[in-house]
Amino acid sequence: MPGFELFGAEEKKEVNDVLETGIYMRYGFDGPRKGIWKAKELEQALTERFNVKYAQLTSSGTTALTTAMAALGIGAGDEVIMPTFTFVASFEAVLSVGATPILVDVDDTLTLAPDAVRAAITPKTKAVMPVHMCGSMADMDALLDICKDYNLLLLEDACQSTGATYKGKALGSIGHAGTFSFDFVKTITCAEGGAIITNIEDIYTKADAFSDHGHDHLGGADRGADGHPHFGYNFRISELHAAVGLAQIRKLDKFLAIQRNNKQILKEALGAIPEVTFRRLPDPEGDSATFLSFFLPSAEAAKAATAAIKAAGLPAFYWFDNNWHYFRKWNHFKEGATLHPFAAQLAKAMEVYKTKEFPASDALMSRCISFPISLAWTDEEVRGRAEKLIAAIKSAL
Ligand SMILES: *Cc1c(COP(=O)(O)O)cnc(C)c1O
Repeated sequence: MPGFELFGAEEKKEVNDVLETGIYMRYGFDGPRKGIWKAKELEQALTERFNVKYAQLTSSGTTALTTAMAALGIGAGDEVIMPTFTFVASFEAVLSVGATPILVDVDDTLTLAPDAVRAAITPKTKAVMPVHMCGSMADMDALLDICKDYNLLLLEDACQSTGATYKGKALGSIGHAGTFSFDFVKTITCAEGGAIITNIEDIYTKADAFSDHGHDHLGGADRGADGHPHFGYNFRISELHAAVGLAQIRKLDKFLAIQRNNKQILKEALGAIPEVTFRRLPDPEGDSATFLSFFLPSAEAAKAATAAIKAAGLPAFYWFDNNWHYFRKWNHFKEGATLHPFAAQLAKAMEVYKTKEFPASDALMSRCISFPISLAWTDEEVRGRAEKLIAAIKSAL
């Protein structure tokens, strides 16, 4: 699953290049950096690998999402439709620009249910933000249709799905903009980092400036001469982090091949249990295969199976009880527990979450288990794990 499992000489070499020059910042210092521009190089690599015109690196996936929201002009009074199943960073970004997160149900793809999106549209809706959870994709054709019908922005949170595709296109490259996370546990990592990808020049130009205090980067070698068309923040990535990412992106195809091979073996083995049903993949070929996600017939069985898998010494994610990835346990969100007061309009809009329930999402998430796919296993180890997994699941049925 995470790229850090295969750190090696390549990452050291790239980081060393930066250490040698002593210039750890991505902008400026044109002379002393001796031609070493790791962040620029990684941005170039991202555009090539994901077949997009523009890529902007940031300090994290969260700041990539925040930057994308700002570049798309999403702000106070705007509603952003997003799923109940995601990492908290998705709503953090919406709230950080003062917009209103509108949570809607997920379906058996573990991503936005298109019908639920349609039902949630109001005159205030500005954007739809699918989250491509656990390595696989949302139903993008259905979401594209909705966004066209209602003239909405489509922002893909592809933070967990770097390298996955939908009908041949990279996740993140299909909407107006998409984001990746390169934090320590993602498919490829910079240790900390993120990126926005887009084919729209205006979005890129704004993201480039917003993530660096508004610098338009037109002042040449003198940062002091840069203009500031609008304000921004310091969401910059460092050269050291970009260097790690540069080594990692060159290994992405290798990571994907290993994950897909390992997942295939596990999925076939689990297919022998009639009570197991798998997460629906709108385009199975595009799966990045970071997780094998499946459903058991009842919440009780899923809970018991999770316990049995863990008791067998294997990892398992039961998101329904997880504090960070599913609405049910987001008490701070439900209570609107913000340190700095929300604008009155947003505070009022957030009230709904104090009592809101999502029975359709609960019915799926309470039966769902995700098994992480490691890059480090041999085929033999995968088969050994498959046997243990089968035994643990059967013991819970
Ligand atoms: C990891 C993640 C993010 C945020 O990324 P960070 O780099 O950790 O800030 C956003 N959305 C999802 C779905 C994620 O999994």
